[in-house]
Amino acid sequence: MRIVFIGPPGAGKGTQSLRVAKDLGVTHLSTGEVLRESRERGAVIGKRAAVYLDAGKLVPDEIVIELVAYRLAESDCKSGYLFDGFPRTLAQAKSLDALLAQQDAPLHAAIEFVIPEEELLERLSKRGREDDTKERIRERLRQHSEITVPMTEYYEELGILYRIDAVGTPDEVFARIGEALAGIDQS
Ligand code: AMP
Repeated sequence: MRIVFIGPPGAGKGTQSLRVAKDLGVTHLSTGEVLRESRERGAVIGKRAAVYLDAGKLVPDEIVIELVAYRLAESDCKSGYLFDGFPRTLAQAKSLDALLAQQDAPLHAAIEFVIPEEELLERLSKRGREDDTKERIRERLRQHSEITVPMTEYYEELGILYRIDAVGTPDEVFARIGEALAGIDQS
């Protein structure tokens, strides 16, 4: 199964994507996590991304696409994967499709987490991650609604977009994702 998870910060993508990837037995990849780790290690990609991570802005497409192309070529992605937080722009979505077309292995599903902004602000204020200051949170939400939400139309047109109500307990949300994925043609 080849799946992408789309959603604003605080929607529960991280928790759910780990759980769903484990359940399906596919590789989990969070671009945000890879970028943070690569920055901590002092790697070139991390250094290039640092200024954007600090500002709560999207890292430029070419950096993220390079990272994903490299990861997709690794053997653990052959039997399926779940991308958490990628793609986030239309350019990323189109680049991913081009990469997957070369492998004749298109996406099965794009899962969008839908959640009201007040609920997100409440959750994020409790999370306390390093990039969760008020200003950065506001910027990340703005980038999500202005750049990432319009991208979902692309997947809607392709007929592979599934919108999930992300309000509820982790078990409830997990069950909703399971229901959506159960109806998917994996051929
Ligand atoms: P996340 O852990 O998914 O919330 O991502 C944390 C931060 O990493 C984001 O605020 C962006 O700065 C950066 N990032 C992660 N994934 C992407 C992506 N697909 N495109 C651009 N920036 C990204």
